Amino acid sequence: MLDPFSFSTRSIFNVPIQLLSKELRSQIAAGEVVERPASVVKELVENALDAGADHIQIRILDAGKSLIQVTDNGAGILEDEIELAVTRHATSKLSTVKDLSNIRSLGFRGEALAAIASVSRFHLVSRNNENEKGTDISVEAGKLQGKSRLGAPVGTQVRVEDLFFNVPARRKFQKSGRSELGRIFDLISRYALIRPDVRFSLEVENKTRLQTSGKGDHREVLAEIFTPNIANRMIALDVKDEKLQLGGFLGPLDVTRSNRAGINLFVNGRWIRDIALTSAILQAYRGMLMVGRFPIATIFIDLPPDQIDVNVHPTKAEIRFLDGENIFRSVSRGIKRALMAHTPVSRIDPSLRWQANIEPILKQEKGLKQSELHLDPTNVPTEQKTQLDLPNVSNPLLRLVGQVGQTYIVAEAPDGIYLVDQHAAHERVLYEKFQSQRATMESQILLEAVQVEVNAKETELLNEQLELLNDISFSVESFGPQQFIIRAIPVLLIGSDPESALRVIIEDFEEDEGLLEKEKDAKLIARICKSASIKAGQSLSIEEQEGLLTDLEACESPRTCPHGRPTMIHLSVDLLEKQFGRKGAR
Ligand code: ADP
Ligand code: MG
Repeated sequence: MLDPFSFSTRSIFNVPIQLLSKELRSQIAAGEVVERPASVVKELVENALDAGADHIQIRILDAGKSLIQVTDNGAGILEDEIELAVTRHATSKLSTVKDLSNIRSLGFRGEALAAIASVSRFHLVSRNNENEKGTDISVEAGKLQGKSRLGAPVGTQVRVEDLFFNVPARRKFQKSGRSELGRIFDLISRYALIRPDVRFSLEVENKTRLQTSGKGDHREVLAEIFTPNIANRMIALDVKDEKLQLGGFLGPLDVTRSNRAGINLFVNGRWIRDIALTSAILQAYRGMLMVGRFPIATIFIDLPPDQIDVNVHPTKAEIRFLDGENIFRSVSRGIKRALMAHTPVSRIDPSLRWQANIEPILKQEKGLKQSELHLDPTNVPTEQKTQLDLPNVSNPLLRLVGQVGQTYIVAEAPDGIYLVDQHAAHERVLYEKFQSQRATMESQILLEAVQVEVNAKETELLNEQLELLNDISFSVESFGPQQFIIRAIPVLLIGSDPESALRVIIEDFEEDEGLLEKEKDAKLIARICKSASIKAGQSLSIEEQEGLLTDLEACESPRTCPHGRPTMIHLSVDLLEKQFGRKGAR
């Protein structure tokens, strides 16, 4: 009888099942760990850190395709273990299954060196301080080529030449050199951030691209990675609760990015990616940044090792949290507090007044490095000033003095004078009311429905947003091919122009591509509030001025508008006294 499967079975699987050759096996496995030049750099630097090095040099040629060299002054490898080190599943960092749930080293899988050596021309020189001499071995495409002893300092140097020379498919698909160098730069920056006590130097095409001193100062590393100015203005985070220790640096709110790449997460010293944790962080920033913008933040989380599982993925960049929800909540709360405590009410910088006098001084001090000039104590949020030392940073209690230029409201508080931008302040007030009342907000039917005419493209954009608009208590319908009709608006917006509220929805719409639904939503509300808020140049009654101040005091983030601009400027009593020559010489 004819076996119905025989034909197809034989045609597809006409080769008998056999074990893959050792070489092929290690190449397949290598693909998981060593995806690209940057992953080689990552593994080698992690090994150096695990070996206790405090000086690590990285050299890159041809974006890592021709050379990746990492030299460290760590413990080195014992002479008789050196061959084992480049063997798969050989590690000195893990010996029992129990260890797997208590990992403190960066490596533990024992795969990296073997994997790298199987797809490159690989040289390793290492000397452990128990050995008189160093050992040098070379491996090519996974095959040991030679081994010899030689004089060498304690530590390890790994040289990876011609990466993927024996894996043409991989070599062909390598991205452009520039993007690879970008990754390597990011990578070294991250290790430098988490380990300011280690001296890193990254040399690309024989030029030093990144160098840290290893003196243990986070801000110095931040200055190297961002700019000295940004680094000095970053807010230090330092919170401890029963569950975790939260540290790091939050960028100033006026320095933002268009994507999440400025957010770096480290858990127990390991850089990780985590979508849920990232959104917990963004949650803390809600309403403080211009919508669609993302903060710069370097966050260190320390947890008991048994609270996480790092053995999720070969590159070890993803981890599993045992109690994710609680951890994320703690992180979000800690960051939010720090931000609230530090959102500076914009101060008049005393030096601004004397700009004319300051210039000659700058010229005299030309020898001074720019970074040192930024170290003005009045400008630097010092590390001691974490939220713990700022117990009650409550919103200022404002007493109305009056309106200036129909644009600013002058108010007095126990700690000085506040100048409030009426437009920005109202934007903030509306935005927070909108967000908090949104579920229960009522609509006000317009006595006369408003017709709005738009072009074809705008018609499409509006049609896409109709559902959301009706969701936030508008009543808008399509009315003819390029016409819409507004029948009702949210009560919160009574008194504002319904047509301009509708028009802002269309503005800059293309910008929104790539945003998450929730972000689009917040951005839309922020725009509507902007269009509906009191304008500069609008005269306000005493009651209106007082009402605005009271509403602003009640806001959760009163110091910036939803787009991140300041709502108020503070002239402290101290500053006034100095400026009037009552106190301390400048
Ligand atoms: P893993 O780091 O997961 O243990 P690797 O393949 O990266 O696996 O390294 C294998 C072993 O080689 C390590 O466990 C360590 O003992 C040794 N080793 C690798 N690199 C270094 C280094 N730079 N300094 C000292 N020992 C090293
Ligand atoms: Mg390793």
